[in-house]
Amino acid sequence: EAAAKAAASVADTGAPTIFDKIIAKEIPSDIVYEDEHVLAFRDINPQAPVHVLLIPKLRDGLTMLSKAEPKHVEVLGQLLLASKIVAEKEGILEGYRVVINNGAEACQSVYHLHLHVLGGRQMKWPPG
Ligand code: ADP
Repeated sequence: EAAAKAAASVADTGAPTIFDKIIAKEIPSDIVYEDEHVLAFRDINPQAPVHVLLIPKLRDGLTMLSKAEPKHVEVLGQLLLASKIVAEKEGILEGYRVVINNGAEACQSVYHLHLHVLGGRQMKWPPG
């Protein structure tokens, strides 16, 4: 599994990712919330009882958070607002964590900006 992870941890090439197929519903996902701008679906490898990924439907150059530009401000806000809706739907409003892994050193493996919404257990700090 470590090897698979290392192989998956490629650089930001701008190539389409598996999330495009999820958005297009070409591959199945367990969708938790969806609106015009964002899609939320369960992580295939959950790190907590609730582990939902939240992505912009239009990547628009947002392969990673460090590529954010002023034109992305609206969708960045929509993602944060939708994270609350996901937490509400999942019943974890009393405590949850929103994580963005940016780049290889933060273990980003899919280069389509995504927020991890994690909860349903006592979270620890500092994160690994
Ligand atoms: P990491 O892989 O280190 O968590 P990321 O922050 O890039 O790095 O997260 C990508 C996430 O996408 C992972 O948590 C992974 O389990 C999840 N994932 C990959 N493929 C799928 C898929 N087909 N459906 C749901 N989640 C997926």
